[in-house]
Amino acid sequence: MSVVDLTSCPECGGAAEVEWRTVLESTDGPVEHARIRCVRRHWFLLPLERLAIAPAYRPPRGH
Ligand SMILES: [Zn+2]
Repeated sequence: MSVVDLTSCPECGGAAEVEWRTVLESTDGPVEHARIRCVRRHWFLLPLERLAIAPAYRPPRGH
């Protein structure tokens, strides 16, 4: 439980790094979001559930 979180960019599929996380209110209550930036400098602020951030489990890719 240490390293930088890595995920994939929703735009280009490249490697993306989680810069920071925050909790935003939604209609269903607070949802943890992550600010990510990919190697091509796309960035997004997305709910964690939209990202492949799962230290112990990675869902199978469905392409
Ligand atoms: Zn990208």
